[in-house]
Amino acid sequence: MRNLANELLGSRFACECGREHLLPIRQFVYEPGAVDALGEIVREASGAKRAVVVADVRTWEVCGRRALNVLRRSGCHAEQMLVADGPHDGPVCDDATFGALLPRLREAQADVVVAVGSGVINDLCKWTSFELGLPYVVVATAASMNGYAAANVAARIDGVKVLVEARPPVAVIAEPAVIEQAPREMTTAGFGDTIAKYQSNTDWAMDNLLSDEYYCGFCAGIVNDIEHLYLDHPEDVAKGNSRAVGGLFEALFWTGAAMTLVGTSAPASGGEHLLSHTLDMAADVHQRRHDLHGRQVGIGTLFSAALYERILALEAPAPASLPARVDRAFWSSPPVFEAIAKQYEAKRANLEIAARSIAKSDVWDRLRACVAPLTKSPATIQDWLRRAGGALTAADIGCSREQLASAVLHMHEIRKRFTVVDLAWLVGALPGAADEIIDEWLIG
Ligand SMILES: [Zn+2]
Ligand SMILES: [Zn+2]
Repeated sequence: MRNLANELLGSRFACECGREHLLPIRQFVYEPGAVDALGEIVREASGAKRAVVVADVRTWEVCGRRALNVLRRSGCHAEQMLVADGPHDGPVCDDATFGALLPRLREAQADVVVAVGSGVINDLCKWTSFELGLPYVVVATAASMNGYAAANVAARIDGVKVLVEARPPVAVIAEPAVIEQAPREMTTAGFGDTIAKYQSNTDWAMDNLLSDEYYCGFCAGIVNDIEHLYLDHPEDVAKGNSRAVGGLFEALFWTGAAMTLVGTSAPASGGEHLLSHTLDMAADVHQRRHDLHGRQVGIGTLFSAALYERILALEAPAPASLPARVDRAFWSSPPVFEAIAKQYEAKRANLEIAARSIAKSDVWDRLRACVAPLTKSPATIQDWLRRAGGALTAADIGCSREQLASAVLHMHEIRKRFTVVDLAWLVGALPGAADEIIDEWLIG
């Protein structure tokens, strides 16, 4: 599988789904000493002579200084650029940070951007380099999320979490020793982001059945052959075991690549991700902290699995009722409310198509047969998260029961893609199941 998948790098290929896929990432290197080859990698990838190494104060110490020295030794003109921290710990990927970084990069007249970091630094470099028409390379410092190989940037613009279209890096490189020594909650966050694919792929297949949405089985199953490395013994992820963390890092790379291959986030982001995005947005509106993306996604994955379990138990769904409209009071900030209301309006046509479909008994039976083998049980998800040392409860992600419950009841409002959360509203499982699932699964 690994060799087969590596052949996809930098290639265009005809897929069993009927489409041609393109993966513009040319190199993926995960091995000891990978940073020492950075000069060569950057030259091969972009022919670059002038590089800017972008990091935050922590990732600069982890790998940034070394990356800069390696580049300089290789004859490249390289300079350092630190991104300042936001109000809570690390930097944030928002319009203000983007606006500050962009002119600095322009002034540096770089011809390649080298990101040294994980989620936010990777996203900021992807976004700014795309805006400047420059290639970027990422030196990853944690197995914390699957955005390395993705084309999209998860940004906050005017207070709203959005996906900005950009381009993936030309190369992703990382050293096992660095990834294994990253803060443990970052690695377990990556574990949460990876196991989410079971639920996002279930949503994707459901969409394919209900509304004929495009689906690619190859991309949905892109990490099937390597997931035993971290799923057979999830406690190895908690221990920082090389084989498990390496497998996890590869899975993060390839699930991100799957999004690039199909051109949407469908293979790796479904209803389970909405909980994390909603918690982030609610925290921003109320100026609270939120937890790491993947830790919240793990909780969302558990919730999605529990929701599917209830939905699958329905012999025949209740007559569909469309979910509540966007709640102005919950979103409180007017620009945030307006942006969300627009997204939700865009979903209404999909909701109506799905409602008409599931009212037909043969469709309902086919849906149950299609979904049952794809979704995981909440007990399995909880067991994996517990053994990997991930967040399990509202308290683990710094959330009160009320905050979690209100996020659950508003998360269907924020994106136009149809997910299990919409299905749950349509068949009458929500809002009733929200409290029951929280009590059964998400309160310690
Ligand atoms: Zn395909
Ligand atoms: Zn994610």
